[in-house]
Amino acid sequence: MTTATARLATEDYQQLGAALHGELITPGDPGYDEARAVYNAMIDKRPAAIARCRDTADVITCVRFAREHGAEVAVRGGGHNAAGLGVGDGALVIDMSLMRSTTVNPDDHTVRADAGCTWSDVDHATVAFGMATPSGFIASTGVAGLTLGGGIGYLSRRFGLTVDNLLAADVVLADGTFVTASESSHSDLFWALRGGGGNFGVVTSFTFRCHDIGEHGTVIGGPVFYDFADTAEVMRWYRELIPSLPEELSGWIALLTIPPVAPFPEALWGRKACGIVWCYTGPHDRADAVLEPVRSYGSPLLVGVQPMPFTMLQSAFDGLYPAGLQWYWRADFFNEISDAGIEVHLKYGERLPTGHSTMHMYPIDGAASRVAQDETAFAYRDGGWAGVIVGVDPDPANAPRISQWARDYWEELHPTSAGGAYVNFLMDEGQDRVKASYRGNYDRLAQVKRRYDPDNFFHINQNIKPVSDGAPAQSSS
Ligand SMILES: Cc1cc2nc3c(=O)[nH]c(=O)nc-3n(C[C@H](O)[C@H](O)[C@H](O)COP(=O)(O)OP(=O)(O)OC[C@H]3O[C@@H](n4cnc5c(N)ncnc54)[C@H](O)[C@@H]3O)c2cc1C
Repeated sequence: MTTATARLATEDYQQLGAALHGELITPGDPGYDEARAVYNAMIDKRPAAIARCRDTADVITCVRFAREHGAEVAVRGGGHNAAGLGVGDGALVIDMSLMRSTTVNPDDHTVRADAGCTWSDVDHATVAFGMATPSGFIASTGVAGLTLGGGIGYLSRRFGLTVDNLLAADVVLADGTFVTASESSHSDLFWALRGGGGNFGVVTSFTFRCHDIGEHGTVIGGPVFYDFADTAEVMRWYRELIPSLPEELSGWIALLTIPPVAPFPEALWGRKACGIVWCYTGPHDRADAVLEPVRSYGSPLLVGVQPMPFTMLQSAFDGLYPAGLQWYWRADFFNEISDAGIEVHLKYGERLPTGHSTMHMYPIDGAASRVAQDETAFAYRDGGWAGVIVGVDPDPANAPRISQWARDYWEELHPTSAGGAYVNFLMDEGQDRVKASYRGNYDRLAQVKRRYDPDNFFHINQNIKPVSDGAPAQSSS
């Protein structure tokens, strides 16, 4: 730590703390280690201070403080980011986790969510009204980071990505001013926020369009597991089936080890499997017809598809993946699940290094692929899949092993991919990977970045560098 930073921590940060309605936590405070920890325990960053903001005024105060004192800023929503980009060494962390209120408008079919909400908060609020907005496949993820990267989930085939359902965002900009971005106000910023990540400001709240789902929020869903030996056949069947299905039914495919916990039958604990997790959100009197191809296929080890509140399906995996595990991620988009790709899945699926390690492919088709590539910053609209390989384990001693397995798997699978990856699944992989993810939208993002954050004040993220004089500028970091 430099002398200047140390002085900032001991004197100026005390003044910042006094100005906030939330709390400021600095090294040496009792809650510091807990406050700096993120979901991925492989990340170990030591911020200069963590400002748990209580309201938008606190966020403005933090941004102005950081500007005046030349402090680096990291912004934290749910803390789930793979690369741990919600925190930064020596940075002032603007932590949104105390700002978690939601307001549902059932007449307008909208929900307004503060930026510290997790999807569990939002689903809880909307499903009570029989509605939901597209989110992800796990409820503990932060609304902010997931939304700003795009948002791929159970409802994406039917209603599009999370960003396709974003109506407005309240944002504190890099100069400390506050704007609401929507189609009719700061529309360039609104375009960029829909996939461009945390590059453009601190979002304090989001307003989403909601949709009626299932029967008053009860959907029909759950996993179907097949013996790992059937993987090639299941993957080939799945890749043909998905595009033919009504959009009320979605399913993501995984290679996994069946967890050694209830409600999975003990006889299957620890067995390698190929699984598909289904979610049908249409009227229940059509469910049998729509699910017939799923129910009649193959010889599954387990069929767990049943009626349940959408909140239950959304949170079904939260307990299996608590915060504090070691995670190493590699990802790509795929236009097809090719035969060559399936060979690679078989090779590395057989070698899953730990019980938590897994590979998922999430469909991005249907409504999500009917949005034009340049309509939002999220550029992958080809109608394929977002794939992710994750080495996961509780034991830090296994970090090298799970990382190596994921890297090797990705190296062999990558040639079968469409190129870039979902930014929310990227680790710290460099500028070329960020550019590949945004495809033709990168240059426009760099223009919007110049307009709203010309100094690259917000750079602890999958960074889009502001254009200067017609050429991409260097990061100020
Ligand atoms: C177990 C697990 C499951 C996942 N499943 C899915 C899934 O199903 N679908 C999917 O789309 N993604 C999924 N993801 C990826 C997820 O979208 C990203 O990890 C996302 O970054 C998490 O958002 P967060 O707010 O929790 O993260 P954080 O770590 O808090 O932040 C992530 C990034 O967003 C920025 N940011 C956070 N809050 C704000 C804000 N208020 N204003 C501006 N910038 C902000 C941060 O600076 C950082 O760069 C999953 C991740 C995990 C760990």
